Amino acid sequence: NEGGDTSERVKRVGNYRLGRTLGKGAFGRYEVICTRSGEPTRSLTRKIAVTVIAATHVETNRQVALKILKREQVIQAAMTDNVRNEIEVMKRLGQHKHIVSMVEVMATTARIYIVMELVVGGEVLYHLGKRVFLRAAQTLASNGAFGEELAAAYFHQLVMGLAYCHANGVCHRDIKPENMLVTDGGVVKITDFGLAVVVGDLANPLVSGVAGTPAFFAPEMTGERPYNGFAADVWACGVVLYLFLSGKYPFISADRKVMQDKIRRLDFSCAWSVFTPQAKKVILSILVVDPRKRVSLKALHKNPWVNRPGDIEALVS
Ligand code: ADP
Ligand code: MG
Repeated sequence: NEGGDTSERVKRVGNYRLGRTLGKGAFGRYEVICTRSGEPTRSLTRKIAVTVIAATHVETNRQVALKILKREQVIQAAMTDNVRNEIEVMKRLGQHKHIVSMVEVMATTARIYIVMELVVGGEVLYHLGKRVFLRAAQTLASNGAFGEELAAAYFHQLVMGLAYCHANGVCHRDIKPENMLVTDGGVVKITDFGLAVVVGDLANPLVSGVAGTPAFFAPEMTGERPYNGFAADVWACGVVLYLFLSGKYPFISADRKVMQDKIRRLDFSCAWSVFTPQAKKVILSILVVDPRKRVSLKALHKNPWVNRPGDIEALVS
């Protein structure tokens, strides 16, 4: 009954039948994290509302996710170039096991639809939150989050996906568990290229400006001079791994300045009890203030703690 009632939600866009809402985001924004204790929660300062909806192709039955942007908002926020950029980046990356691929782009007078492959399991952050909550409810002494095996398995896939981005000249700039989706089989896929940039020189991938999510900012991101964007992405991976293992952000404060300061002083605020020496070594090789001394993705990929044999499906089931 797609009849004349305009107040009724549109049930179909192009050849896609719309389903449930998968997520809401905010394009081109900072996400301000304002917890005191460091648990993963988020509060958004939104510039443009973004809705992501599951959909099915009416002929092929292919399941997709539609990222929907309102054209008027995009224009008002002067973000047409950003949207164009996100689409260009996804096109450039094409298909990879650990990247959410784009299927097509549709546009009406009112909206822009970025059609992507559907990743049913949702955000890694959601799964992490569930673990942290469950463990807290059971009042486990050393609460932790994913446990080493699962943390390493998710982290390794992040490393592989990000290495592919970098090899293609793409600096992601917003690596965090909200932008890592996971299939039911435990395959991690990086998404949200809304802030990504294509660097001019793979050997010297300079990026300027401060963008992304403050808790994941590398110390060299001061906004004063350009920095190595790839190394900054690697730093964010370190924050992700820390979160996976402990359920806490390594550097957190409601005050942005205080948080920046903690990052620059490498002031970790959480107990090390949930980290084995090997895990701690990996984290300490990433969270290095000098970007030139920070570990590379290649080295992380080769690290036996990160890259271990095992069946991811068994871990997530
Ligand atoms: P934003 O730029 O607004 O952060 P995202 O691309 O990150 O937009 O999408 C917002 C949220 O929508 C994601 O964090 C996720 O929960 C959900 N989502 C996005 N893409 C997909 C997808 N392909 N499959 C399943 N869920 C998705
Ligand atoms: Mg996002």
